[in-house]
Parts: sequence; C-alpha cells; structure tokens
Amino acid sequence: MGGVDFHIQLAGSAMEALLVAVGAVAAWTLSYWGGWLGRRWFPPPSLMVYFSPRGGCSKAIVAEIEAARREILVLAYSFTYDPIVDALVAAHKRKVKVKIILDKENEAATYSDMVRIMNFGVPTLIDSSHAIAHNKVIIIDRKVVVTGSYNFTQQAEMNNAENLLVIKHNPPVVNRYVRNFEEHENHSRVPQPRPESGTTDKGKRLAA
Ligand SMILES: [Zn+2]
Repeated sequence: MGGVDFHIQLAGSAMEALLVAVGAVAAWTLSYWGGWLGRRWFPPPSLMVYFSPRGGCSKAIVAEIEAARREILVLAYSFTYDPIVDALVAAHKRKVKVKIILDKENEAATYSDMVRIMNFGVPTLIDSSHAIAHNKVIIIDRKVVVTGSYNFTQQAEMNNAENLLVIKHNPPVVNRYVRNFEEHENHSRVPQPRPESGTTDKGKRLAA
C-alpha cells in the first residue's frame, strides 16, 4: 500500500513540475508576443541622420514616401528633385492624401516642379506670408518627420553640404510639426504660376 502511495506522490510532483513548465512556456510566449504587438502598435522613437553630398538623403526621403499609407504633408522651399517629386506623384496615384505647401518662388522658377505636380492633381498651395517659406519638412502618416537643411533639389543631393534627420514614432514632435503645417496651410493660397514656371523642368518634359 505504501508503495502505491509513493507512486501517487511521485506522479503528483511530476504533474506539478509539468504544470510549472507549461506555465513558464505560456508566460514566456505571452510576453514574447505581447512585446511584439506592443512594438508593432507603439514602436519606440527612433532617429536617423544623413548628410549630403551623396550621403543617401534623397534615397531615405523616397523610401519614407514610398512607405506612406495614408497622408504626406510637405513644406518646401525649392521643389525640383525629380526622384522625390515622382515618389510624391506615385503616392498620390495610390490614394495617399498628399498636400504640398511651397514658397512663392516656385510660381516664377523655371526649374520648379510645382506646375508638373499640380497637373497630376496633387493639392498644392503657396505660402507667401513670410520673407521666405524656407521649411523643408515632410510629415508621413503622422508618424514620421523628415527635416533638415536638405532642399528637395538635385544640387542638395549631389553638390551641397546638407543634413537630414528622420524622426520616427515620437508623437509630441510629430504633433508639433503637424500643427505648424496647419498654421501655414491656414494662411496659404492657390498658386498663380507665371508662364515661365516649370518651363525648364526636366521631369515635365519627360512626363509630356
Ligand atoms: Zn506660413
């Protein structure tokens, strides 16, 4: 009889050990997937920096534009670099809500892509409320801010010394940039391009 008791006892502690092991694996699995979901829903803030010339600034910008799913807000002074303009047009075509606010210089600049992007139906405004609307900011899906000295021009990519900062998943910073975009939007107006605007834009000639 004692032997049976002994075996029952052994079976009991084996079962306990098994339960503890199963519980530990379940807890580990839960915390693993919980962490994965948490990082997916609330990714940690991140910063990336790029420097031109030829330091990958435009490549980084195009990659962020291509990853956009809902909205792209652009504040730009010079607006002439075809890879960036083309990526914005492509985003507009896949139904991402693109809004662009440009400095008034684009209404006269022969090399500006303003007229070309307007011809694709991309909502474009002019902010003439400042000496120069000198921002270079792209806000994507209210999650990513791309900014720095980097103008959206070929010269900035190939020849200039510029810096570019890509700020991700930092809600207070993104929200501040969105509010600033909206302040400029509120005093911006419909573009009035002069006849010469965009006449030497290579992209326009290629698109024609
Ligand atoms: Zn403004």
